Amino acid sequence: MILHKRPGTGIIIGMTSPVPSAIPYSSIEAKTCLSRAPLPDAFLVSLYRALAPYRGCGHGCMYCDGRAEKYYVEGDFARDIAVRQNLAELAARDAGAGFTAREYGAICIGSGVTDVYQPLERELGLTRRTLEALVETGVPIVILTKSDLILRDFDVLARFPHALVIVTVTTVNGTDAARLEPGASTPDRRIAVVREAKARGFSSGVMAMPLCPGISDSDESFTAVLAAAKDAGADFVYPGGLTLRPGCQKDLFLSLVDEHYPALRADYDTLYGENRQSGMPRTERSAPFHARLDRLGRQFGLAQRIPYSVYNRLLSKPDALFVLFCHMQHLYSLRGVDTRPLRAATDRYARWLSGERTALRRKRIPVVSSDPFPLTRILDERFGDLLTGTGGERSLAAILENDRLASLASAVLKDGADFDYGSLAVV
Ligand code: SF4
Repeated sequence: MILHKRPGTGIIIGMTSPVPSAIPYSSIEAKTCLSRAPLPDAFLVSLYRALAPYRGCGHGCMYCDGRAEKYYVEGDFARDIAVRQNLAELAARDAGAGFTAREYGAICIGSGVTDVYQPLERELGLTRRTLEALVETGVPIVILTKSDLILRDFDVLARFPHALVIVTVTTVNGTDAARLEPGASTPDRRIAVVREAKARGFSSGVMAMPLCPGISDSDESFTAVLAAAKDAGADFVYPGGLTLRPGCQKDLFLSLVDEHYPALRADYDTLYGENRQSGMPRTERSAPFHARLDRLGRQFGLAQRIPYSVYNRLLSKPDALFVLFCHMQHLYSLRGVDTRPLRAATDRYARWLSGERTALRRKRIPVVSSDPFPLTRILDERFGDLLTGTGGERSLAAILENDRLASLASAVLKDGADFDYGSLAVV
């Protein structure tokens, strides 16, 4: 059913229970909800593809990648919000059927192109209703936001087996934040979310991205974010740079630079003058930029990826190993290590993991209450055989073609050691 907005009211014509709202919105129907990927997402450490209750975002961040033409959001990204009004019902259907959610692994709610706690959520409560439905899946949750409205739903998050609360903080300077992220909570209130999340027993950390050249990427600015995050008890601070895709995203951001930071305009024209479709700045900037952030992060003892000690509770062991290998590639390359052997081993492992998983999914093994995640159980058993070398002719070392990596995996996944993202050592 196509639903229509009555202009200026936000009341959806055609809904059985129209929800009045001071913020105008239109309504769209989600076709699917829970969807498993063949391999976990190493960025947000989840197995299920990200859920987005909204399209567009009232936080209106000036750098938002979601504005780019690539995502085909019609109209004004910050004002023309579309609501996937049936998402909670779909979540309840998927969770109740016991069909889709039969693998243990985190569901991610939120993404870089919409915020699940944007202002409209205060009135509609769609994210809350979706979370309430997802509790029934029995799998963990990863949630990403720039709003302290998430505090309202901590009671629901506490009902998941584990929750990771990620809060984006790009600067603690209130003036810059108000210019860059006009509709989001202030940086202080976002940091307070991390503190409260940790107090509630959740994992929590900071996404410090995008750090904008000349505005929020200096040592001083990033160090202030690190210090605030550390003080709040964050598990990590994950930094990243600014991308400016040619078109409306870049045009809008440069208009902000012109208005508030005119002295930086020439630098931006140089950095982003190649107009790459990816929005990336000149390549020569990348390596020193990330190495600098890595050095600063280590001074605070904060991992600059979501660390293993967090995602080992969000993913099955075979999936956690894949994420660990992906993170190791990034961390070692930052320190100037040749990662080609690690990359090749990761590719071989990914083929094994996705191949086993795809074959198991085809069998459509039924879910029963005594065995809620049968695919994960079988995959775990096969993985355990690989680690102990009791899996017939196959062992993890044979799959990876790398004995050192196999013994590292065994120490972490079998013997319960941790991999420290600062020292890059098994501890
Ligand atoms: S909160 Fe995220 S999705 Fe929303 S405008 Fe800002 S960057 Fe975009």
